[in-house]
Amino acid sequence: MAKVAINLSTGALQQEEVIVGIDLGTTNSLVAYIHPEDRTPIAINDQGQGTIVPSVVHFTQTGETIVGTAAKDYLTTDPANTIYSVKRLLGKSYNDLGGHQDYFGYKVIDDNSEGLVKVRVQDKFYSPIELSAEILKELRERAEHALKTPVNRAVITVPAYFNDSQRQATRDAGKLAGLEVLRIVNEPTAAALAYGIGLDPEEEKTVAVYDLGGGTFDISILSIHQGIFEVLSTNGDTYLGGDDFDRAIINHWIQNNELIADTVNQDKHLSQELRLKAEEAKKTLSSQQVYAGTIDGKIDCHLERHTFETLIAPIVARTIESCRMAMADAKLQPEQIAAVIMVGGSTRVPMVYEAVSTFFGKQANNSLNPDEVVALGAAIQADILAGNRKDILLLDVTPLTLGIETMGGLMDSIIPRNSKVPTKAGRQYTTSIDGQVNMKISVYQGERDLVKENRKLAEFDLKGIPAMPAGFPKVDVNFILNADGILKVEAIELRSGTRQEVEVKPQYGLTDAQVEQMLLDSITHAREDVSTRMVIEARTTAEQMIYQVERFVEKNREHLTPDEIALTTANVQRLKEVLGTGDKDTILKAVDILEEQTSPFAERIMQISIKQAMAGKKIE
Ligand code: AMP
Repeated sequence: MAKVAINLSTGALQQEEVIVGIDLGTTNSLVAYIHPEDRTPIAINDQGQGTIVPSVVHFTQTGETIVGTAAKDYLTTDPANTIYSVKRLLGKSYNDLGGHQDYFGYKVIDDNSEGLVKVRVQDKFYSPIELSAEILKELRERAEHALKTPVNRAVITVPAYFNDSQRQATRDAGKLAGLEVLRIVNEPTAAALAYGIGLDPEEEKTVAVYDLGGGTFDISILSIHQGIFEVLSTNGDTYLGGDDFDRAIINHWIQNNELIADTVNQDKHLSQELRLKAEEAKKTLSSQQVYAGTIDGKIDCHLERHTFETLIAPIVARTIESCRMAMADAKLQPEQIAAVIMVGGSTRVPMVYEAVSTFFGKQANNSLNPDEVVALGAAIQADILAGNRKDILLLDVTPLTLGIETMGGLMDSIIPRNSKVPTKAGRQYTTSIDGQVNMKISVYQGERDLVKENRKLAEFDLKGIPAMPAGFPKVDVNFILNADGILKVEAIELRSGTRQEVEVKPQYGLTDAQVEQMLLDSITHAREDVSTRMVIEARTTAEQMIYQVERFVEKNREHLTPDEIALTTANVQRLKEVLGTGDKDTILKAVDILEEQTSPFAERIMQISIKQAMAGKKIE
């Protein structure tokens, strides 16, 4: 039960507020809290319904929602009104779904392929945020019911590979469910915390978290030092999991019983029965050697453990290949991994356990319930945030560079990739044209030198810069990346104090594969990018120079000789001609000639204006 305290000023009884930890999963979700007396994390089991809440939302004909186990029953009877796997849609556009649009049994709207996806149920449209909020509301109500206290604050977990957009969407879903989301925590970090790893600030170790659920797989390598959790690398497959084991079993039975796959697919009753039996067989084989079953006494559904293992061996091998890649990215050898943590229901399969333990050369940790471990860790994090434990920082790294567009469409990086978050960085900019009162700030993410090759996150105008000559205004652009990986960009003109900021909620998310592709592209194009950057920089310098010189001549014509004007015009003309050549050296040479020729002018004009000023001054 929650602790009770007395408000000393009013004498009223106050209940100490519980902060819950939530694992908002693709297939299943859970809510956990720290028991106030024995201080252990506990997954909430409201009214004996079990701790697991299937992440399924069903809409009734009257538009009401049913969430969890009761909703799951409608998956086969009313698929169009029953939403599952909504986590796969969070923060994503239709394009982001790649070839997986058909995966969903309900209607995913594709009318605006750049915008965030929506789901159509009956005649209404729902965003994945709203649908996730329904699941969170259910978890919140269960927690309130079980703990008999209001629950307003939570820590929610997300996969380590979730990008800004997906994290922000998760946060928004929490808000919509009436929860103040104190922190978005990476699932592997939560799993490590549940095993007590990282709670001692003196501890330094590297751990692997292997998470094989129903439909997703990921492996994360975490480094923990001084209470800081750093994701060194992640790998996985967002469309691989226990469901693939079930499918392998079904196909095996179809073959053994000489059934036609197409006929089975069309027979709703039969395919549903096969699915249920396959999952039952798989679970049975986690503790026994043989499963014997039939469907309607006609179809033979027996399975032996070694046959099952032959069937799933290629799938398990794929997960081990991901582990190998994650280790290579983290530049580590298996013996450098201090502990391996098992997460997700499918890690109960003995063959999976053995394969992972063999790969890492040590017995994996599976003493905690693999379905609950992430929620338990989230509850521990909530407890830390409530100030009940020594302060422990959770740190991640940003996977891609964040920066802004500068002259010529170049990317100016402000927070480099792999920077630890939270972090803050900034740079000073100025205007390029006299009297410029607005400055466009375009924020990009990516590794390429040209912004057009990167991904635009946001754009805004800093308005109201006082009119000054080019180069005079001082505009500080600051990037603040918070612990959840959400970026705030602020621009301040220092002389006037004009200020503008945006919180970056990217229009659409990036898949893991896209992040990888962006990194690969940056390596492949590194050389050509460098030369393009140099040409653009030379061209920008030249354009600025032409602008300044032309303005100068126009203003100070009376103080220059006709020869000087003619020579300047010729040199400017020459520079304009070579601008288009794309040859950096030729451009810079022409810039040097013009600069050398015109630099004495500035001094002369200064002398003249000083003389004029002196002449105008009355000396008493
Ligand atoms: P999760 O997404 O973590 O809730 O994992 C759910 C997956 O774990 C489903 O594919 C289940 O069939 C699978 N699962 C649950 N219990 C077992 C078990 N005892 N043996 C094998 N797989 C299981």
